[in-house]
Order: sequence, then C-alpha cells, then structure tokens
Amino acid sequence: MTDQPLIEHLAVIGVGLIGGSAARALKKANAVGRITGVGRSQPRLAKALKLGVVDDTSSDMAAAVRDADVVLIAVPMGIYAAVFKAIAGSLPAHAIITDAGSTKQHAIREARRFLSDPNRFVPAHPIAGAEHSGVEASNAELFCNHLCLLTPDENADPEAVAKIAAMWAACGCRVEKMCADEHDDFLAAVSHLPHVVAYALVNAVNKEGNERHDPFRFAAGGFRDFTRIASSSPSMWRDIVLCNRRSILAKLDGLEAELGALRQAINDGDGERIADMFTSAKQARDAWLQRRGKGA
Ligand code: NAD
Repeated sequence: MTDQPLIEHLAVIGVGLIGGSAARALKKANAVGRITGVGRSQPRLAKALKLGVVDDTSSDMAAAVRDADVVLIAVPMGIYAAVFKAIAGSLPAHAIITDAGSTKQHAIREARRFLSDPNRFVPAHPIAGAEHSGVEASNAELFCNHLCLLTPDENADPEAVAKIAAMWAACGCRVEKMCADEHDDFLAAVSHLPHVVAYALVNAVNKEGNERHDPFRFAAGGFRDFTRIASSSPSMWRDIVLCNRRSILAKLDGLEAELGALRQAINDGDGERIADMFTSAKQARDAWLQRRGKGA
C-alpha cells in the first residue's frame, strides 16, 4: 500500500515562475497526486505540460477547480478579483485555497468579496523569486530554505492552515505566520521600495545619455547588482505597487527623508556625517548577511 500524498488533486491557477516552481517542488517531494495547470494561454499551458510541470491543463478556471482538493492562485495581483469570481461557484466544500501573491491585505479582501467560505482561504507569500517570468524559469529548488509567510486571520480554519503550512514546507520553505497588515508594511520596505527605486534609478540614468555617450557603457558590477530587479515584469510590479500604495508611499517618505539628510551632508561637504551614514548602513547590511548565513 502506498502512502497518501499530502494533496490528492492540486489546481495551479497561473503556471508561471511561482506556480510552476511550486508544482515542480511538490512533485519532487511526492506531496501531490495530480496537478492541473490552469491559465488563459494554450501554448503556455502546453509548454508546462511538455515540461512535466503539470499532469493536465485547462483554460476553464471554474471547471478546473471542481474536484480540486487545494487551489493555488499564482497570478498577478491585478486579476485576483477575476480569479476568485470565476472559481467561487464551483469550489467543492472541502477545497482549500491558497495563493502566492506579494501583497496580502488585497488577497484577503478579494477572497472575502467572492468566496462563500473565506475561512478556507489561507493567504501565503513565499519570499523567493527572480526577475524572470514564466514556466520556463520555474525550478523545484526555488523555495529551498526561503521563508514563506502565511497571513491567515483568527477565523481561518485551523485544518486548512495546517495543510497549507505543510504544502509550503514540502516546497522547501521555512513557514511562519504573521498579520497581513504587518506583512504588507515590512514587504513594502524590503521588497516593494527597492523595486520602485531600481526602476526609477535606471530611468534617471537612461536620461543621462547624449549623442556621444551611452551612460550604461560605463556601468559595471555595482550598477548591475543594484538594478537587477529592474528587469522584473513591469506589469506584475505595477499590480503589486497599486495593491500596497499606502505602505509604499510611507516607505518612500522615509527614503526621501534619508536622501534629504544625505543630500544636506553632501551639500555641506560634511565628510564626517557622510561617513557616519555610510557606516551605519554598512554595519546593518553586514549584520543581516551574517545572520542570513547562519540561516536566520
Ligand atoms: P509569472 O508571470 O511568471 O506567472 C504568472 C502566471 O499567471 C502566468 O502563467 C500567466 O500566464 C498567468 N496569468 C497572467 N494573467 C492571467 C490571466 N488574466 N488569466 C489567467 N492567467 C493569467 O509571474 P510570477 O513571478 O509567477 O508571479 C505570480 C504571483 O506570485 C504574483 O502575484 C507575484 O506577486 C507573486 N510572487 C512573485 C515573486 C517573484 O519574484 N516573481 C515572488 C513571490 C511572489
């Protein structure tokens, strides 16, 4: 007799980088019986099938979730309402829904708006990714040793939360729980703000070009490291920014204050202040890398 997999039938809505990587990781861990890949593009679904990421495919969301045990939503934040609306009427009563979206209050709001039992929605955010998109970029190792934050509220079904925690753990994640508003606030600081800054910085540098020189010719490793995330999907990041506007605006205020202080010190030729500010940043970053190296 073989052991029952953790999930008998998983429907993955959006088989891109994140949905595809979760599917691959769950298959590798033997944690799933069958995976249906759900999306709107037939050629992309065919590719996911050919790569062995999913076992069957469907472009009909409602039909695809009809006998699913777990539904993983891994689409851009901007279409959450459309997805919840499409699946709400055909989810079996026992189904558990999770997601991988980068902002959690929006995900919860949309789940409450459309699902008849929003307590079976367990919001999740695996904090791992890449600047590449699509199933071609997916890999089973993407989540290994990365945090996955679950943000269920106090009404969430504990059995559903436990199952989804086990699912992300089977993907290789270190699973933790936190409040959705705290999640959105901290992620605004460490993820959303850096993306906004990287996009803005590349645009600012691009405008420095003239007839004689392309400014990027003089850029090297530092510029490349700093701006890597400006190669991320613009539409995906537009959605994230729009879903977390208040927190991102607060973090932009904080950054503007920092830049203002630094600008003043540069204007004043105040080397001591400049060095102090650079030193405190270096110390904070070095300490973070050290904690990270120890698996924290
Ligand atoms: P992706 O572009 O690689 O994949 C998105 C998938 O959604 C694709 O398969 C696409 O075909 C599908 N899709 C897009 N619009 C659709 C529509 N209208 N109907 C049906 N399917 C549609 O993006 P990704 O990086 O996998 O991101 C997916 C989610 O995960 C996003 O909500 C993102 O915020 C979140 N996330 C991304 C990262 C990252 O670094 N990329 C990390 C953590 C979480």
